[in-house]
Amino acid sequence: GKGAAMVTAVAHRLADQHRARQKTLEPLKLSHEQLLEVKRRMKIEMERGLNKETHAIAPIKMLPTYVCATPDGTEKGDFLALDLGGTNFRVLLVRVRNGKRRGVEMHNKIYSIPQEVMHGTGDELFDHIVQCIADFLEYMGMKGVSLPLGFTFSFPCQQNSLDESILLQWTKGFKASGCEGEDVVSLLKEAIHRREDFDLDVVAVVNDTVGTMMTCGYEDPHCEVGLIVGTGSNACYMEEMRNVQLVEGEEGRMCVNMEWGAFGDNGCLDDLRTEFDVAVDVLSLNPGKQRFEKMISGMYLGEIVRNILIDFTKRGLLFRGRISERLKTRGIFETKFLSQIESDCLALLQVRAILHHLGLESTCDDSIIVKEVCTVVAQRAAQLCGAGMAAVVDKIRENRGLDTLKVTVGVDGTLYKLHPHFAKVMHKTVKDLAPKCDVSFLESEDGSGKGAALITAVACRIREAGQR
Ligand code: BGC
Ligand code: MG
Repeated sequence: GKGAAMVTAVAHRLADQHRARQKTLEPLKLSHEQLLEVKRRMKIEMERGLNKETHAIAPIKMLPTYVCATPDGTEKGDFLALDLGGTNFRVLLVRVRNGKRRGVEMHNKIYSIPQEVMHGTGDELFDHIVQCIADFLEYMGMKGVSLPLGFTFSFPCQQNSLDESILLQWTKGFKASGCEGEDVVSLLKEAIHRREDFDLDVVAVVNDTVGTMMTCGYEDPHCEVGLIVGTGSNACYMEEMRNVQLVEGEEGRMCVNMEWGAFGDNGCLDDLRTEFDVAVDVLSLNPGKQRFEKMISGMYLGEIVRNILIDFTKRGLLFRGRISERLKTRGIFETKFLSQIESDCLALLQVRAILHHLGLESTCDDSIIVKEVCTVVAQRAAQLCGAGMAAVVDKIRENRGLDTLKVTVGVDGTLYKLHPHFAKVMHKTVKDLAPKCDVSFLESEDGSGKGAALITAVACRIREAGQR
């Protein structure tokens, strides 16, 4: 009768809606062939970044770091370290010991960098940093002590030596004026001199990927790759000097900071990017830049999710078609919420509670849909990251003319560490796409800060050996 017809109509409508949502999510699901293609393109772009002739127009900059030696356990001393560019800004005191008591001991303090400072002038930003250092020295009871300093500065920089580092462009949430094209060591020193209060001996500027690789290398000599999947994403690895064409010399190896976040900035990933990726990019602080990073890292995944949810809602496929003010708010889905929503042991009721906490009222069906969107977006991120990593380890293997390579990747970053599935999916993708490599992943503990101190320690050891 009539009742049955109505039930059938509702069932049809629900099935149609389901199909409509699946169709929208389809382009976010990548096949093995597509991922192999990403790996292949990454390899090509790596080569273009390394090559002298193509470097200038290559999006992946493959920047020389002047880090050639890994710690050998003989370094020692007290060092200061700064860590800028991740989730937090930190100042650290690091004590490195050799011999029987070999190891690293750290004290650190987290400081916030207000948004208006991140987006203000360079002088304001560096004055703020120096203010934090002064506070830290006071807090540690070390006023007036001058220690060698390692600066983890997690942005693309052109280095001409270990202690000169020219910022090419800001990424992530930073946009302070007057810094791009400048040497960040000079900016820091000028800010110190403006205070006329203390002095610092800046020995090394390092990228967080490099710090992470060094920290893990202190424990595991196979560690020749560094990976960050946090607010932003990037990788570094030990490249043969003969391939590092921007630096004289053919012997040995040098760590190269890939800056792989810029992969695709020449359009080479456009066939994989969806309308949601484009929407996130257009509204970002750096439109057109860091396109790969925007498909992978914590600062952007939540925004991709939010854009998909808005699209579903506008089409009446979610939240009963009602777009709330909250859903229109940028940045509501932080990494920690994405991680919670996907946590396996969570009942749907708890997913709804999280959405409620975010200010989004959902039905049970809504919460299933939201969770699926989160899964698809995070899975793609992990697979893309794995495809990039497969290109890196295979390049190392080919460089050395090996049939098989055993290598360790040092990893850090909130998305990698907090998300319940990211690491697993990424590992599997690397295995699938680079079957000739035996890759282990080692989570670094406090990699970027500790690594800056270790690199400083190595540099001091070499400097002292040279003075002898
Ligand atoms: C920066 C890299 C950094 C990465 C992870 C990117 O946005 O360009 O230098 O290593 O974020 O922090
Ligand atoms: Mg060379």
